[in-house]
Amino acid sequence: MIASLARRALYALATSTELESVVRAVPPVQDLALSQARRYVAGTTLDEALVTVRRLVGDGLAVSLDLFGEGAADEEALAATVDGYREAAAALADVGGDVYLEIVPSHLGLDLGLDVCRRHVEQLVEFLPAGSRLEISAEEAERTPHIMDLTIALAEAGAPVLATVQANLRRSPGDVDRLLAAGVPVRLVKGAYLEAADIAHRWGDETGVAFVRLAHRIHAGGTPPLLATHDRVLLEALLEALPGAGVEMLLGVREDDARELAGRGVPVRVYAPYGDSWFRYWMRRVAEAQGA
Ligand SMILES: Cc1cc2nc3c(=O)[nH]c(=O)nc-3n(C[C@H](O)[C@H](O)[C@H](O)COP(=O)(O)OP(=O)(O)OC[C@H]3O[C@@H](n4cnc5c(N)ncnc54)[C@H](O)[C@@H]3O)c2cc1C
Repeated sequence: MIASLARRALYALATSTELESVVRAVPPVQDLALSQARRYVAGTTLDEALVTVRRLVGDGLAVSLDLFGEGAADEEALAATVDGYREAAAALADVGGDVYLEIVPSHLGLDLGLDVCRRHVEQLVEFLPAGSRLEISAEEAERTPHIMDLTIALAEAGAPVLATVQANLRRSPGDVDRLLAAGVPVRLVKGAYLEAADIAHRWGDETGVAFVRLAHRIHAGGTPPLLATHDRVLLEALLEALPGAGVEMLLGVREDDARELAGRGVPVRVYAPYGDSWFRYWMRRVAEAQGA
């Protein structure tokens, strides 16, 4: 109960622009916050991030590199974001290893219109290293229908996309079926956002059970699921039951588990975000680390 309240309170802080402004305004406070956030952050610059990516690849792990940010207010901000992602995609080609680019649709203009976002995402595809994919993040539930439409439109146009489905959302079984019918591989997460009870299962057992059912549903659809969780019990149970399933984890969380699973031959990919907008991401991770 107390952990759940702490989690909700920290989530509220994570989305507080006031708190972020206060922390950002005082350099020593910002430096202290960044020193704590570093564990989860591949770097504040692309060069720093590439050092992290190379370390992970050297450890036998696959990587998804993402540029921090959510929402794009206007075309100018969007152009800068697209340049950043393009630079990241191009740099990945020199790294070698199994490296994907991850994108957050609202960061690439989803709120300005599906066509705007699609146009910008399509520009990135040509910069991906050979054999690489574009992993598409899931965001707040109000954006989910648009993200599903975007993902399927991109897949139908031949883009190598990989979707994220949030187990906590009640709509997710239908989304899984739609994605599988379009031939899109699915990464399953518990869901990082606080959502209303009528659209989402509660955090804890309810979401855990939904995760198990969806993982089986994806597997029954003929595609091995990508299990993006640090929940060791869920992972071991599902890896045993669903041959071919892969694992995805966040940078800085249970890295020993990631290496141990990779050592056993399980394909493990690490999500490695970088950039200057690390504050909200870090606060969400702090909220999730309660009790860890
Ligand atoms: C690769 C990847 C991509 C993701 N992409 C999305 C996305 O696009 N959209 C979205 O909504 N969510 C996304 N998430 C986040 C996800 O929805 C959960 O919020 C997050 O993974 C925490 O849930 P968990 O499954 O690890 O389970 P939990 O029950 O939260 O954690 C299981 C155990 O892992 C450990 N742990 C978890 N978090 C931390 C931490 N921060 N620090 C230390 N220990 C920790 C603890 O020991 C905990 O008991 C992603 C997660 C991963 C791994």
